[in-house]
Amino acid sequence: MIRKPLRQTWRKLKIGIGASLLLATLLILWLTGFGSLRITLAELETGARANLAVQTAVLERLLDKFRLLSPLLARGPDISDLLNEGRPPQDPGITAIAAGMSGAEEIWLMDAAGNVVVSSQAGVPAGSIGGADQIRQAFDLALQGQLGRQLLPGTPVRASNYVFASPLRQGNEITGVLAVRVSLDDVEQAWALSKDTIFALDTSGRVVVSNVPEWRGKLVSELNLGRDIADLSLFEGVELLLPAAPTGDHHMQLKEDVAVLGWQVRSLVDITDARQRSGWAMLVALLVCVIMAGGLAILIARRAEFVRQERRTRAAALRLERRVQSRTSDLRKANTHLEREVREREQAEANLRLTQAELVQAAKLATLGRMSAALSHEYNQPLAAIRSDAEIAGMLIERGRAGEAKTNLGRIEGMVTRMAEIAKTLKGFTRKSGTDIKPVSLRQVIDEATLLLQPQIKQKKVDLSLDLPDADIIVKGGRIRLEQVVINLLSNAVDAVSGSPLPHVTLTLKRDNQEAVLTVSDNGPGIDADVLPQIFDPFFTTKDVGAGLGLGLSIAYKIVHDFSGSLKATNLDEGGARFTMRLPIADETALAAE
Ligand code: ADP
Repeated sequence: MIRKPLRQTWRKLKIGIGASLLLATLLILWLTGFGSLRITLAELETGARANLAVQTAVLERLLDKFRLLSPLLARGPDISDLLNEGRPPQDPGITAIAAGMSGAEEIWLMDAAGNVVVSSQAGVPAGSIGGADQIRQAFDLALQGQLGRQLLPGTPVRASNYVFASPLRQGNEITGVLAVRVSLDDVEQAWALSKDTIFALDTSGRVVVSNVPEWRGKLVSELNLGRDIADLSLFEGVELLLPAAPTGDHHMQLKEDVAVLGWQVRSLVDITDARQRSGWAMLVALLVCVIMAGGLAILIARRAEFVRQERRTRAAALRLERRVQSRTSDLRKANTHLEREVREREQAEANLRLTQAELVQAAKLATLGRMSAALSHEYNQPLAAIRSDAEIAGMLIERGRAGEAKTNLGRIEGMVTRMAEIAKTLKGFTRKSGTDIKPVSLRQVIDEATLLLQPQIKQKKVDLSLDLPDADIIVKGGRIRLEQVVINLLSNAVDAVSGSPLPHVTLTLKRDNQEAVLTVSDNGPGIDADVLPQIFDPFFTTKDVGAGLGLGLSIAYKIVHDFSGSLKATNLDEGGARFTMRLPIADETALAAE
């Protein structure tokens, strides 16, 4: 949204810069062209002005020379004599000599009436000007005693002539006129050497002398010299003409006045070269401008690219930063979540431990309950028997049959001994189960365990068969704890066979190399294949609530492993389960030492 106006502004700025550059280029071009033209024209003007001065001087010197010649000749005595002698005009005499020496075109004498008396051109056909009619203006002035002057304008085929006429005097009287005619052809020949076009204008603006012969006799207005470019007139007295005649080129026109005659000499200088040179200078300036503009454009483009790159980099960095931030916050969340989970697990574990402890306690109580039931049964039976034997013995003694009473007393003694034995076992069981490992007689363990389980076995009418070796087997362990294992295995087996029509449990003990192998097999339902891997797990039970805690096998497993043995469960092919306990055999002498 914000970018669009920005882009427009940037575009406008670029157009503005472009336009300014174009204007600057045009200005530089104009200044270069104008400056170089001005310098070249200044050089040209200096040369041309010097040349014009020289060429003007040529004209002036020529006219000056002959301006003096006619009065000088008129004053000479020989000339007056010529007039008086009345010699035929065909004899040029002194006039020819003077003309020859001075370089004048013609020198001739006329009487006061204007008739030619003598002429240097006598004998030259069509060479002479003739009488006073053709130089009337000069002749009349001479008759008035002045120096007569007259221009005889030229034509494209003939050069102009200039005539000076001086009065001839005898005493105070003017008796005739001496005229000197000068051809301006000499001046034109001198001017022809100049590369510039030079022409002299008389007071009426007619071309009198020129190095362009065709211009002779024409008015300056007829020459079509071209329009004066007034706004380019750079120097005083200089005009720039456009378009120019005669060549069609541009020209610079310079003027110089000839004071004595009131004429003006002008020169036309070709400025094509100067214009070409300024054109080249402009071209070079244009090239320089183009190169500079190109360089500037490259710089601007590079700068723009740099800025774009910078922007891209910044955007990427920003994106990265945002991603890192979002990842960090994700991680923080995950961390918090994990911490909470850890706390919950710890709490659950603590709860579990507490429950476990409670359950272990409950298991202990359950065992205690079972044991007290077994004990009360074990004690009640002999107690009842002792009572009846005692009563019978009393009655026999009263009747004086003391000898018979002895049998009863012997039975009483046997039962008391047995009860003492049970008490001894109980004492051993209640003794704190130590962690120390001693040699233990497996026969003794089996005897005590079966004794304790007797009531249960009887109640459930289970057929228990023992298959024991002749020699006792001594293993390393704790007696009470091993009894606990055997009791557990037997009581599980009794539980398992309780539903069988002929409940049967077999306990075997044998020696296998350095190991004692004790098995408890039953003909119960066996262990389901899918629960088999779990039966040693704590709290795993398939029994009803209250019937089993699922701790017996796990404790048994731990005890056997503590004594470096192993405990395994398998199913029998004929049905039922078998538990196999293996324990390392201890040195037999050790038990003897105990
Ligand atoms: P509890 O006897 O309290 O259930 P145990 O750890 O002693 O706990 O036994 C775990 C489970 O192992 C029993 O619930 C039972 O499913 C199975 N089990 C143990 N002994 C036998 C056996 N002889 N026959 C079949 N299943 C057995």
